[in-house]
Amino acid sequence: MSNHRGKIAGLFICILLLASGFISLYTRRLRAVAFIKELRVPRESTPATTNDLDDKLNFGARPHVQTQTSWNAPIMWELMFDNNLYDRKHKEANTTVALTVFAVGRYLEAYLKTFLTSAEEHFMLGLPVTYFVFTDLPEQVPEITLAPQRNIIIVKVEKHTRWQDISMMRMKTISEVIDTVLQHKFTYVFCFDVDQIFKGRFGSEALGESVALLHAHYYKLPKYRFTYDRNPESKAYMTEGDYYYHAAIFGGTCEKVKALADYCYVNIMEDKLKNVEALWHDESHLNKYFWLNKPTKLLSPEYCWDEYISNTEDILVKRLVWAPKDYEKLRTR
Ligand code: UDP
Ligand code: MN
Repeated sequence: MSNHRGKIAGLFICILLLASGFISLYTRRLRAVAFIKELRVPRESTPATTNDLDDKLNFGARPHVQTQTSWNAPIMWELMFDNNLYDRKHKEANTTVALTVFAVGRYLEAYLKTFLTSAEEHFMLGLPVTYFVFTDLPEQVPEITLAPQRNIIIVKVEKHTRWQDISMMRMKTISEVIDTVLQHKFTYVFCFDVDQIFKGRFGSEALGESVALLHAHYYKLPKYRFTYDRNPESKAYMTEGDYYYHAAIFGGTCEKVKALADYCYVNIMEDKLKNVEALWHDESHLNKYFWLNKPTKLLSPEYCWDEYISNTEDILVKRLVWAPKDYEKLRTR
């Protein structure tokens, strides 16, 4: 008899669990649908109202590193800026930020949760932020507690067979989502690799019209060591450049990021027609783009540090660090 009662209780618990699962999925979907409707209402902020902020930077605060490019774009290092000033001006300007991140295949389970929860602790705190997560496994995206004014939109994408294509084809998707959704609602868009962890403030000082990141492994090296694409057959081919940029983070206004994404995508496709592939895939094309179209702001490697680098004398704050890589296990071939 008690065995029978136990079975009924077990069944009841199962039904409860299933029902709560469905309800949670359903309410998540409703929230997303309501939010997407709201996204169609145009935003009011323009980046122009915060442009002059960079004129007030303290370019002499870091005598041992370069703080400005030859074309007068600032290179953002700790001590050069006033966090509160940037935050206040961006709040007054009603700045809104979209973050795109791809978590396809095994990268979802390995990295996405840490990426998002750490972003909630450090990325553009106090500003409205919407995460756009692109994945082939939408039902496996972990539920994250978000602060007010912060949202997450999950978008299903196909999984390309080769990891190189998963990485490169992000450019096509980014261009499309800017076109269809982001440009109407967000002042800025920032595109991130998922295999990274926020560790310190990654704030509104990083916002700008066209933002590139200095690669942690190359910022101190002479130019001849830069690993640009050197194959004249590829559209990414270049013989000279300014810096070696890291494609793990780039951003800017919707208009500028769309121009970058379109440029990279078209050139990736032209390469495919000729059966060539740039040395470092999307990163090679991104380097070519930023050589021809100078970024208006550079982020120092404090914004994306590899903890395997032992010389940390220039790094006063680690704002974001590389997560451990495990290509053998995570990547498709
Ligand atoms: N990516 C993914 N699944 C894959 C391969 C890549 O989601 O199987 C996405 C993910 O956002 C990743 C980015 O593409 O961070 C770039 O790939 P990866 O981080 O492996 O490149 P690396 O950092 O080695 O240049
Ligand atoms: Mn990466």
